[in-house]
Amino acid sequence: SNYKRHLLITGGAGFIGSHLVQLLVKKYPDYHIVNLDKLTYAGNLENLKGIEDAPNYTFVRGDIQDADFLQKLFSDYHIDGVIHLAAESHVDRSIESPIAFIETNVVGTAQLLNAARQAWAGDWDGKLFYHVSTDEVYGSLGATGFFTETTAYDPRSPYSASKAASDHLVRAYHHTFGLPVVLSNCSNNYGPYQFPEKLIPLMINNIRHSKPLPVYGDGSNIRDWLWVGDHVEAIDQIFHGGRTGETYNIGGHNERKNLELVEGLCDVMDDLLDQPAGTSRKLITFVKDRPGHDQRYAIDASKLNAELGWEPTVSVEEGLAKTAAWYLEQTDWLEHVTSGAYQEYYEKHYDGR
Ligand code: NAD
Repeated sequence: SNYKRHLLITGGAGFIGSHLVQLLVKKYPDYHIVNLDKLTYAGNLENLKGIEDAPNYTFVRGDIQDADFLQKLFSDYHIDGVIHLAAESHVDRSIESPIAFIETNVVGTAQLLNAARQAWAGDWDGKLFYHVSTDEVYGSLGATGFFTETTAYDPRSPYSASKAASDHLVRAYHHTFGLPVVLSNCSNNYGPYQFPEKLIPLMINNIRHSKPLPVYGDGSNIRDWLWVGDHVEAIDQIFHGGRTGETYNIGGHNERKNLELVEGLCDVMDDLLDQPAGTSRKLITFVKDRPGHDQRYAIDASKLNAELGWEPTVSVEEGLAKTAAWYLEQTDWLEHVTSGAYQEYYEKHYDGR
């Protein structure tokens, strides 16, 4: 083929994956971008509007746990690079049904590693397997300190434990078999196209419907928020410039208490909805804390900054305002993802193509 690279992106119909696919398809017309996604409840092809018909883009529906399917995919599309984002990603769901997280995040990652190892068969030249992971593998921080790349793993939820296991497998394939890998561990992302089970879009959607805003415990848990566009920019830089075998932490130094974040969002929404100040804050309702709820996450991203010059470009205030405005404009998208109508969209656009 005439393409310079043949990249497999897994989970490209999800929140972060769709932003990454949008970026790569437009930025690298000389790369073939193959998007592999199972289209679980979290995958939505409407996130990929605008690039679906690009000549350098192909969508394939499939499961990363399916070894035969993966083998054929690597060979059919001459895959020479993988950016792996497919995962079960919601902590609360991992508490309700942990096994799906082990299946996709652990077994699925192992199958994908194995497929890459077999397809590349020791010819590592120009090949790279990039695993996108989370800072939650490091556990929970007290009031001070930051996660660095050498912080010991201490996952505490089935979600973070499954991501930790997958990180270990990626490193094991590097050390044992020589597979060229790179990893990144990122803090909480937010922005357009995030499924409305996650904190920020959930709150925006509930404010729209004047429904209670459930805040866990006393709202004192701290998260480090990163604009999704800054994350996918970092992934692009690490894929192209990161050192093989290395791990890079990604974060925005944007720590906020959950309650503080929700209050800020309420004020932004009152403004956008032309409501009297304080209207949305009245909807805040404290609910029973999440079991094992990690107290604080905060990322030290200085390695990434020193080696590749990456830094976040969007502040939380700016990002929240952009996100809230986007969700208010995209009421169709919101209705579709909350109604399952995007399955019909899939059938209309992709079946029988
Ligand atoms: P998401 O839930 O929005 O998307 C996940 C995608 O993976 C969906 O499109 C889903 O259909 C697909 N998928 C799930 N199981 C699959 C399977 N077995 N085979 C093929 N596809 C499958 O998740 P996200 O928030 O975009 O996160 C993407 C990745 O980034 C995950 O690996 C997550 O652990 C990691 N991450 C997320 C955050 C965050 O704040 N959202 C932060 C750091 C790291």
